[in-house]
Amino acid sequence: MSDIDLNEQATIAYRAMLNVIGATEPTVAQAIRQELADQRTSLKLIASENYASLATLLSMGNWFSDKYAEGTIGHRFYAGCQNVDTVEAEAARNAEELFGADHAYVQPHSGIDANLVAYWTILTHRVETPDLEAKGVRSVNDLSEDDWETLRHQFGDQRMMGMSLDAGGHLTHGFRPNISGRMFHQHSYGTDPTTGLIDYDVMRAQVREFKPLILVGGYSAYPRRVNFAKMREIADEVGATLMVDMAHFAGLVAGKLFTGDEDPVAHAQVVTTTTHKSLRGPRGGMVLVEHEFADDVDRGCPMVLGGPLANMMAAKAVALAEAKQPSFREYARNVAGNAKTLAEGLMKRGATLVTGGTDNHIVLLDVGSNFGLTGRQAESALIEAGIVTNRNSIPADPNGSWYTSGIRLGTPALTSRGFGTDEFDRVASLICEVLSGTSVATTAKGTPSKAKYTITDGLAARVHAETEELLDANPLYPGLDL
Ligand code: PLP
Repeated sequence: MSDIDLNEQATIAYRAMLNVIGATEPTVAQAIRQELADQRTSLKLIASENYASLATLLSMGNWFSDKYAEGTIGHRFYAGCQNVDTVEAEAARNAEELFGADHAYVQPHSGIDANLVAYWTILTHRVETPDLEAKGVRSVNDLSEDDWETLRHQFGDQRMMGMSLDAGGHLTHGFRPNISGRMFHQHSYGTDPTTGLIDYDVMRAQVREFKPLILVGGYSAYPRRVNFAKMREIADEVGATLMVDMAHFAGLVAGKLFTGDEDPVAHAQVVTTTTHKSLRGPRGGMVLVEHEFADDVDRGCPMVLGGPLANMMAAKAVALAEAKQPSFREYARNVAGNAKTLAEGLMKRGATLVTGGTDNHIVLLDVGSNFGLTGRQAESALIEAGIVTNRNSIPADPNGSWYTSGIRLGTPALTSRGFGTDEFDRVASLICEVLSGTSVATTAKGTPSKAKYTITDGLAARVHAETEELLDANPLYPGLDL
């Protein structure tokens, strides 16, 4: 069947779906329609977002949503789970094949959930319990209430080390707004103040001194590749488990752009990810582990997760099958190539980038240095011009984590839409035009505001019109006509 046939069928399916929903709740049907219209007409540079395929999207809305299936494949607490077993096994098999993992656990509902499952897995597998072992207890699942009391103290006394937030780490890597910051004694590694890059010698010294149980690799806003082979070496020196959260760059691992020392699955004992960012799947999470952690990770539900969302696991299976195709390798190459073009386009027009460039899918623009703006002002001015980005801290950010001095840009979504180097150079030029034409406004007290700004008359509208031209030339879901 040709693509045209599939697009026509998707159009029929979506029209029918919206009619059925609209008959019960017209506001929701209209919001769904509007969301597509908005996504079609905005220049999406949010580094953590993408556009899933129609096959992936269509896999989510079905009868699997009605099924309870706590437990794992073949070992459920509910009856009648044979079809859930089929989709969970398919998603796990696809993930294992795609990433070369020993074992995949595909139930986590999101990236945060995947990290919580991973931490629990490592704690239960790694924390030594000599008192309990002397009593003949082999697994946390055999513990009495008194034993649990002993273990609670041991679990609560463990250390973990991840990347600091202002260097690009994620809240789930041991920071207070997330449970990980309360479960563990935490210490972070940062980046070199001059180069903005991870300094592995400094990391090694910190790890030797702090001796974490878990060393976490991975990031949300670091525009460079990471040497996971080196991180494993460092972790091994103190007997730490290396866990990598590849949520952001899983698509670049799947597309075989990050190989050798840069492949987290080849080096970390535990790897977590989301499935909806550069991997271009449904919203959700996964944990990939070496054999020795397999039994523990499979206890994620009901230990820390609610019942698995079988409809989302079906969509994960579909998206992972897509990521196994050769075209996904080309996609990953284009994502990184486009990020380089965007970075170079910004720098040649005078912008300052954290680390002076990129070699992944992220560009971190320092809007304080050259444009004199806060991240908040830059984010708002760009949105007025139809360019959607998000503000982000930069290392040692003078404006803190609310106003920030940075803008994070990412190429996965627009690359899915077909944008190439010409388009990304044009995008760089439009961003610089908007930021150059934006000035800091004053507060009622006459001091410079960190939120208010003024923008040259007519500039936002003109840039908006240019973004529309770019978007019209690269339509989202071409052939889907609602
Ligand atoms: N891990 C990293 C590195 C992330 O960047 C994010 C989200 O931005 C998450 C985890 C959390 O993912 P989710 O929003 O699916 O819980």
